[in-house]
Amino acid sequence: MNPAELHIGIVGAGPSGCYVADALGRKLPGARIDIFDRLPTPFGLVRGGVAPDHQGTKNIARQFERTLGKDGVRFLGNIAIGRDLSYEELKAAYDVLIITIGALEDRRLGIPGETLDGVYGSGQFVGWYNGIPDGRELEPKLDGKSLAIIGNGNVALDIARLLGKTPDELASSDLCAHARTAFEAARIEDIWLIGRRGPAEASFTTAELAEFGELSRVAIQVDPAQLPQILPEGLPEEQRKLAEKNLEVLRTYAAHEEQHNRPVRIHFMFHAAPVAILGEGRARELVLEKTRIEHGRAIPGGETFTIPADTIISAIGYRSTPFSGLPFDEVRGIVANDQGRVEAGVYTVGWCKRGPQGVVPANRADSLAVADLILADLAIHQTGGKPGGALIDSLFAEHGVRPVDFAGWQKINAAEVAAGQGRPREKLARIEDLLAAARG
Ligand code: NAP
Repeated sequence: MNPAELHIGIVGAGPSGCYVADALGRKLPGARIDIFDRLPTPFGLVRGGVAPDHQGTKNIARQFERTLGKDGVRFLGNIAIGRDLSYEELKAAYDVLIITIGALEDRRLGIPGETLDGVYGSGQFVGWYNGIPDGRELEPKLDGKSLAIIGNGNVALDIARLLGKTPDELASSDLCAHARTAFEAARIEDIWLIGRRGPAEASFTTAELAEFGELSRVAIQVDPAQLPQILPEGLPEEQRKLAEKNLEVLRTYAAHEEQHNRPVRIHFMFHAAPVAILGEGRARELVLEKTRIEHGRAIPGGETFTIPADTIISAIGYRSTPFSGLPFDEVRGIVANDQGRVEAGVYTVGWCKRGPQGVVPANRADSLAVADLILADLAIHQTGGKPGGALIDSLFAEHGVRPVDFAGWQKINAAEVAAGQGRPREKLARIEDLLAAARG
């Protein structure tokens, strides 16, 4: 196989797509790589998921930018598979096709009241404040005094922390203007962070948990009785280490002097499983059931209680959204695959391969592993000779589709950075504005 005759298509320009493009570009010099994204902007979760006050994490975008700018690599933004191109057309065009579409759909709580006004999935909510165009018009209700976040992962922490910060504490973030305005107008006094299991089972990472200690207007409430003195038997080593470090931080919070003069309270509440959301048209209360842990699982004990909650955000994980023809595991909500292999010539990487777990660098390891798998397969099977971008370009011409290319993205980037005025950037959050900027 001559790499120069190889055409590689990657669907999704998020971290996994960029990492796999970089790895294959290095190992297959001369291969042509097209990276598609449904949005006019690249970088997936780095732009639309990573918290706007975690700018250090976003620095990885500079490396991805270099990947997209390399010879032989094309960025094709604003191309939705299923709308502008079909899976069959992609397979006809590329010798190697890699699906890295992430996990964009919120998992459902499956409890009564979930569809009431004021109830949001974390994907919707985060997408709204991070300027993902599909979420731009969400305008979440933040007009009540009490807001509950269900889930004990880092996404739940991101949301609570951002809501707890003052405008000054958000000044160096790239939180979108529409979200800044809404956060400043909000009068939330109580934020509940609710875990169905205990603090030893929470999936928060310690650095993220420790950030709460720095919030100037927030009083952190942790019930010391909920913090175990001894960790449960049988925790896997990694979980045990994480639990020890997290408990240390939670103990310092529980021992805090009362911070009476602080206007916002963040309550860490454990062993509480959501049962129902109550309200007439609009969420007003969250019903929870006390749990105990058996063999690592949350077992409801029958005793329920209610907290006020005018806004409820479930941060309980995500599913991928397949396009027509893509082999899909409906139960797990991921692309059906065997270690990254989907079908002959088709591979998958990242959250759509293994579920929504792991920070950005975890996707690098996954991408490198699948790149090696692809190289091993290429060494065995005679591959090559498909038309690649030439077929795609003729289909675009036929259908009147005009992708946003890398130069277009650079124009968007420049416009956003210029509009930042002291902030890292002011994101354009509507498709029409992004396209106008891309087309200069
Ligand atoms: P996560 O870490 O998997 O947490 C999901 C949480 O939802 C868990 O506490 C889980 O509880 C809970 N949950 C699931 N179903 C539930 C239900 N029906 N009722 C109540 N609770 C339920 O997921 P995530 O927070 O969405 O984060 C996804 C990945 O992105 C993670 O790997 C995370 O570390 C990463 N991330 C990292 C950062 C960062 O580094 N700053 C920021 C954001 C996200 P159980 O454990 O009991 O199932």
